[in-house]
Amino acid sequence: MAEAAGSSGVKKERRVPERRCAGCGGRFPKTALIRIVTCPDGRLAVDRSMKAQCRGTYICADPACLKKALKYRRIAKSDGSAPGEDEAAMLAAAVGERLG
Ligand SMILES: [Zn+2]
Repeated sequence: MAEAAGSSGVKKERRVPERRCAGCGGRFPKTALIRIVTCPDGRLAVDRSMKAQCRGTYICADPACLKKALKYRRIAKSDGSAPGEDEAAMLAAAVGERLG
């Protein structure tokens, strides 16, 4: 924690790219979403670094969005199959983690 209180009125504008939530379909800044990646080995993972070189899907930190995304198979493994119970639980945990 080394944040100095800025006295100058310099505004740093950083454009955050927007991504579409796979649940509600809304567009949000990438940083507000959870990135779920499907890796070539078929595993699903939560990409906390947002940098994994895998196919990514984004969802809001909202259990309802996760549910929808799973229901409509917007989150699927690389072979197109639905996530298993373990993976669904892992994703739910990631959403809960974000919500705090
Ligand atoms: Zn959403």
